[in-house]
Amino acid sequence: MREITLSNGKTVEVECLSCAITSGLLEPDGGVVIETEYFHAHQDVAYPIKGLIILASKRHIKCFDELSEAEKFDYINILTKIRKAQREILGIEYVYYFYNEDTTHHFHTWMVPRYEWMYEFGRSVESVRPTLLHARNEMNDEENLKEVMAAINALTKELNK
Ligand SMILES: [Zn+2]
Repeated sequence: MREITLSNGKTVEVECLSCAITSGLLEPDGGVVIETEYFHAHQDVAYPIKGLIILASKRHIKCFDELSEAEKFDYINILTKIRKAQREILGIEYVYYFYNEDTTHHFHTWMVPRYEWMYEFGRSVESVRPTLLHARNEMNDEENLKEVMAAINALTKELNK
């Protein structure tokens, strides 16, 4: 069991955070952006970057080669749909995709938008970790959180129409 501290300060004990979120046990701030038979998308508001999405499988698996045929199909389709909505609704030109198998959670892909302000932290992929930390530590102000929530709502609306 791991103790997870939520953004509202409360703590919960869960076996796997991804299982807790995709099963609906834990409601992510901002709610579910879109859900399919095999996948679940939400924003981790601990990293308040507009349009950052985490796409997690509902099944507790770790590695890419554990995906079933149906899951593979669902994965690429939902990933594409979210990407398109990021572009059309939020004007996001580029996205970084991260997925690591040595995780304490389960199969989930980070979709991290690239913004101009991120150049301060380096070009391209090298900026990603510093950018995420900067967002977590320095961007939790009310104004930014409001924008992040508005972006989540806009994406949710677009993806579920
Ligand atoms: Zn899990």
